[in-house]
Amino acid sequence: MSKPPGWYRAGLPHIWLPYTQMAAEPPPVAVAATDGTRIRLADGRELIDGIASWWTACHGYNHPHIVAAIREQAEKMPHVMFGGLVHEGAMRLAARLAALAPGDLGRVFFSDSGSTAVEVALKMALQYHVNRGEAGRERFVCFDGGYHGDTVAAMSVSDDAGFARAFRGLLPGQIRLPLPRGDEGRAAYARALDEHGKSIAGVIFEPSAQGAGGMIFHDDATLRAVVEEAQARGIPVIADEIFTGFHRTGPLFACTGAGVVPDILCLGKALTGGAVGMGATLARPHIFDAFSGNDLDAAFMHGPTFMANPIACAAANASLDLFETEPRARQVAAINDALTDGLAPAARIAGTADVRVKGAIGVVELQALSLERLYALRAAFIEAGLWVRPFGRIVYLTPAFTMSRADLDALSAGICRVLAEV
Ligand SMILES: *Cc1c(COP(=O)(O)O)cnc(C)c1O
Repeated sequence: MSKPPGWYRAGLPHIWLPYTQMAAEPPPVAVAATDGTRIRLADGRELIDGIASWWTACHGYNHPHIVAAIREQAEKMPHVMFGGLVHEGAMRLAARLAALAPGDLGRVFFSDSGSTAVEVALKMALQYHVNRGEAGRERFVCFDGGYHGDTVAAMSVSDDAGFARAFRGLLPGQIRLPLPRGDEGRAAYARALDEHGKSIAGVIFEPSAQGAGGMIFHDDATLRAVVEEAQARGIPVIADEIFTGFHRTGPLFACTGAGVVPDILCLGKALTGGAVGMGATLARPHIFDAFSGNDLDAAFMHGPTFMANPIACAAANASLDLFETEPRARQVAAINDALTDGLAPAARIAGTADVRVKGAIGVVELQALSLERLYALRAAFIEAGLWVRPFGRIVYLTPAFTMSRADLDALSAGICRVLAEV
């Protein structure tokens, strides 16, 4: 390995990395460039990317259509405030998202990340009740294994096993339940909703697949149970599809696949094809209408400075073009087959607890994973020319939908080999 570049050595004492024990973890890897499904390192090595930068780069990196749209927009208008002003990219994007989203999720509120899309959704649900004169609906029902972001309200509705542990004192108490699996689960969930009754502001969940909380999957019956039992009681349902949206689990949206329409929908991550940060929160008419009136108090008082950033809108519109013109659903089905075949041998490796695949998500869950072995695994994957980054007890793949079968096979085979050896 060659000496790291000057910028790396100059920045290393000053940079603070996410989710990282800075004193103990091996130093980060210097990246020079990305291209398609590859990450090129500063020392010249190339990695096959199994993660697509936290499943954002769904069309592969540097897609020429997205890059051209960003470049054109940057020259015309990189940003303009969204208070009282609108622009073509945002208007087109709002109309397109409303048309693609399940049912009548027709109003789009833009923000700058997934976590802010969730904050916006939670605030919408809370104020919806306030505006309707239903005081006291202030707690959210959420689920074990859920992950909704790192800002405070988003953390409060996430599983507190990992990310949120240090912040418990700050977090409002929510109602965390097991996912309603099977008939008994559904009945228990319905009882919990009745028990907490008029204290509930909304239900928030990740349909079909819980991502950062442990890559845990559930079936459509469970998804429908979450939505239907809540809606039957007039409780707004927030579907966080920041992980599952845009075909990650198969259908364009997991809720569409299960035939349900949540009251509020959160999008992010792959929304811009992974090029720029952006969040969107979509609401149905009855939610939006509760904010109408002559009184400014009833208006939704939220507005990120970089809301509907034109460059982000240009990237998102270009990404939607690609979903229209490229065979993404078919590619996801092919990835599903490739990962199912490729990861199957991992089930026979000692220490494997489970191997599972859904859409373009592949998971090998280990019985245990010490920090020491976690770091060793991460290093071994890089040595093998792969970008795979286990967390918790999970080794996972969320590749770009454009990845070739050969690269998918190399990733799966690499996981099986490294897990057997390290
Ligand atoms: C990543 C993620 C978030 C948070 O998005 P950020 O852009 O990191 O703030 C929220 N919900 C889900 C399901 C996610 O996967």
